[in-house]
Amino acid sequence: MNRIEGKVALVTGGSRGIGAAVAVRLAREGADVVLTYLHDKENAAAVVGRVEAEGRRGLALRADSADVDAVTGAVEETVAAFGGLDVLVNNAGVFAVGPVEDLRPEEFDRTMAVNVRAPYVAARAAARHLRDGGRIISIGSNMAERVVFPGFSLYSMSKTALVGLTKGLARELGPRGITVNLVHPGPTDTDANPADGPNADVVRGLTPVGRYAAPDDIAATVGWLAGPESWFTTGAALSVDGGFSV
Ligand code: NDP
Repeated sequence: MNRIEGKVALVTGGSRGIGAAVAVRLAREGADVVLTYLHDKENAAAVVGRVEAEGRRGLALRADSADVDAVTGAVEETVAAFGGLDVLVNNAGVFAVGPVEDLRPEEFDRTMAVNVRAPYVAARAAARHLRDGGRIISIGSNMAERVVFPGFSLYSMSKTALVGLTKGLARELGPRGITVNLVHPGPTDTDANPADGPNADVVRGLTPVGRYAAPDDIAATVGWLAGPESWFTTGAALSVDGGFSV
C-alpha cells in the first residue's frame, strides 16, 4: 500500500523543475495529480505521462498563478475531475531580482500576485474542499532565511510572506487534521537556477554541502509532508538547503 494511495493532489507550476519532481513523487506515493503550468504545454503533458506511468491519473491545466480566477478554477477543476482534494502544493513562483531602484512596480505586482496571492487564493479555495487529514505545502526559498546577495529584496519579501500564511493556516485548519507547512529549498538545479549558471560556483561556496540539490531532493521532503507520518508537523518552515541558511 502506498502512503497516499487514493489521495488527490494539485501542484501549481508542475511542468518543470521542482514542481514536476513533486508531481511525479506524489504519484509514486499513490496520488492522482493535477498540475498547472503557464507556457510549457509540452512539458506539462510529459509530466502527466510520467504520473500515468506510475499508475495514477494525471491532468495538466493551463492556469496563470497571477490570475485569481485561474487559481480558484484550478482547485475547482481538480475536485471536479478527480472527485476531491487532499494535497495542495503551492510551487509556482517568479524570480524577479535586481537593484531595488531598477525593479518596476509591475514586477512588484506580478511577484506578489504569483508568489503570495496565489498560495493564499489556492489555499482559500482548497480549504472548502480539503478532506480531513489534508495537506497544504508551499515552496518558499532559502532567500527567505538568509539574503546573501544584493538584488533579492522583492523575491525574499515575497517568500517571507509565506511564513505568516503557513502559520495562520496551520492554526485555522489544524482542528480538521489538515497540516500546513513551508519548504525552503536551497540551490536546486532547475531552469530558474541551473547548477552550471554564472553564479553557481559562488552559491556552492556558500552552501555547506557544496552542491546543488536535484529537484527530486526537494520533492522527497514534500512527499514526506504529504504523507501520514508527518501528521504532527504543522506551521513549520523546513529548510532543505544543504545548510545554506546556517
Ligand atoms: P522553474 O523555473 O524550473 O519552473 C517553474 C514552474 O512554475 C514551471 O512549471 C512554470 O510553468 C511554472 N510557473 C511559473 N510561473 C507561473 C505562473 N504564473 N502560473 C503558473 N505556473 C507558473 O522553477 P523552479 O522549479 O526552480 O522553482 C519552483 C519553486 O521553487 C519556485 O517557487 C521558486 O521560487 C522556488 N525555489 C527554487 C529554488 C531553486 O534553486 N531552483 C531555490 C529556492 C526556491 P511553465 O513551464 O509553463 O513556464
